[in-house]
Amino acid sequence: MIRFENISKTFGKHTVLQNIALTFEQGQAVAIVGPNGSGKTTLIKSLLGMVIPDTGSIYVDNQNIKHDFSYRSKIGYMPQIGHYPPNLSIRQLIEMMTDIRKGIIDSKQLDFDIIKDFELEKIYEKKLGTLSGGTKQKVSAALAFLFDPQILILDEPTAGLDPLASEILKQKIFKEKNKGKLILLTSHILSDLEELSSHLLYIQDGQIQLFKQLSQLKEEYDETRLSKIIARLMQVKLSPSLPQPYWV
Ligand code: ADP
Repeated sequence: MIRFENISKTFGKHTVLQNIALTFEQGQAVAIVGPNGSGKTTLIKSLLGMVIPDTGSIYVDNQNIKHDFSYRSKIGYMPQIGHYPPNLSIRQLIEMMTDIRKGIIDSKQLDFDIIKDFELEKIYEKKLGTLSGGTKQKVSAALAFLFDPQILILDEPTAGLDPLASEILKQKIFKEKNKGKLILLTSHILSDLEELSSHLLYIQDGQIQLFKQLSQLKEEYDETRLSKIIARLMQVKLSPSLPQPYWV
């Protein structure tokens, strides 16, 4: 469904992605994990067309994304922080987005689950500039799912949500995953990743260290918890360069 072929990206002298070769399939829910600065966001932005790789190609449903932006209608993206025109109301934003997509998408395909479950209609006339961080997150989630996309990219989706909202969103992610959609997730809340993901993609220094099914990883590492596996992955890479204690 998505294929990265030898993607590399350098910012100045800093190589941020090195020869990334990777295929994501329908029905996978992939947790993208790695230390800060390891290249996760750059990888996601490359897929969204917000960063242009120096080398390599990305294919969505066998279509090279380089010269044709139509693939973007297949993707629902929930950013970590949504930036919206402050003077628009939630209603106006939703209507504007559906108007833009008119002709591309049948109105019967619109998915209002999140809008209903988060009861956003009750605050439809509120201006986006007046919303709390958590409510903005809810609006971002509503937009990501609205057009019933085959691919969902969710960047820290539950961060800033209260426990009930977080549960509602996770249920929705489950539902879409079970429909066979491809879900790419980042989160610092490892228990969320554990609940939602089928695969772990671990990136370090712009390289793929590991891309495996969670169940297989748990067997190989003889660990039942994802957090333990990630801690071990990080230690393996980090320990040689850790400073020696002063008493050695
Ligand atoms: P992550 O999401 O894993 O924290 P990023 O992909 O955001 O990592 O960043 C990887 C590295 O690339 C970091 O060192 C970051 O400073 C650098 N970087 C990201 N975007 C830019 C940019 N536009 N210009 C220069 N350096 C960048």
